[in-house]
Amino acid sequence: MKAVVFEAPGQVYLLDREQPRPALPSDVLIRVAACGLCGTDQRTISDPPLMSCDPGRTIGHEISGVVVEAGPETRFQPGEPVVVVPNYPCRRCESCHLGYINLCDDFQHLGSMLDGGLAEYVVVPAEFLQRIPAGLDVTLAALAEPLACVLNGADRAQWTPGSPVVILGAGPIGLLFLTVARLAGASPIIVSEPNALRAEKARALGADWVVSPRDPSHEEEILRHTGGARVVVDTLGTLLGTAVAVAAKRGQILIFGIDETATVAVHPAHIVAKELTIEGVYIARGTMPSALKLLAQHPDKFSQIVTDRIPLTDWETAKKSLLSNAAAGKVLVIP
Ligand SMILES: [Zn+2]
Ligand SMILES: [Zn+2]
Repeated sequence: MKAVVFEAPGQVYLLDREQPRPALPSDVLIRVAACGLCGTDQRTISDPPLMSCDPGRTIGHEISGVVVEAGPETRFQPGEPVVVVPNYPCRRCESCHLGYINLCDDFQHLGSMLDGGLAEYVVVPAEFLQRIPAGLDVTLAALAEPLACVLNGADRAQWTPGSPVVILGAGPIGLLFLTVARLAGASPIIVSEPNALRAEKARALGADWVVSPRDPSHEEEILRHTGGARVVVDTLGTLLGTAVAVAAKRGQILIFGIDETATVAVHPAHIVAKELTIEGVYIARGTMPSALKLLAQHPDKFSQIVTDRIPLTDWETAKKSLLSNAAAGKVLVIP
């Protein structure tokens, strides 16, 4: 089968590999229908990599597909459409015992430590599979993984109907936050995004205003539209300064993006004077079932976030698109 393999830093190629087989009675063999690309893959394939990956591993972790073969100890049948929960917690460390499985000390990550889904087939333990609800397109269901991560933040967001929200960045994660905030009734929603294609996509998905961070007065503009945001989402992980500036008194800042190279200068006095709350949001925590439900309820909205479907055989095009942030929305790779 074809698979996208991390060979060495900066060397990530489409190669021929042997088709995997279920090794344990609890394993399930999946024929991949779609695998989304995201910032994590970008950090893995960039040179030098910002995210570690074992040489020889197939990458890709936003996976939907169809069961081909299910071991006797599973509750799956061939033909069932499923999505993959790609981070396997150890269930032994203190974080796992406290229920913070997304903060496990000893995670196994599909797509960096175990073979992932940028391939025709992948083997996954049954406990890390979820059935796709009837009627939901199996390729659109690949959005369930990033949406589950967004819901880990949205579940904590203090937005209520009519509360102003600011989303910094309109990449796929920003667009998912925008859609979820809109469904929660937050209003107005202001998106900050310099890329014209992405700004247009944010407008199409219901942003009330889109400002460009290249405009030196964008923070004042946001304050003019919102009077200060109840919730600010930083999807880049580099924009805490802006987030502090545009948050309302007692506002909440959710930092979702990860950039290990970033440091930011903030005025702690502003955090104190406004009594701001700043929270990190790290991957998904039991939110995959709600993500699948939301996708099944609003396929018309979420399908607008998928802008590019690139065949697996055209990996080089997909890689270029990912590294250049060229796509207006989510890129799905289709085996
Ligand atoms: Zn991802
Ligand atoms: Zn653990």
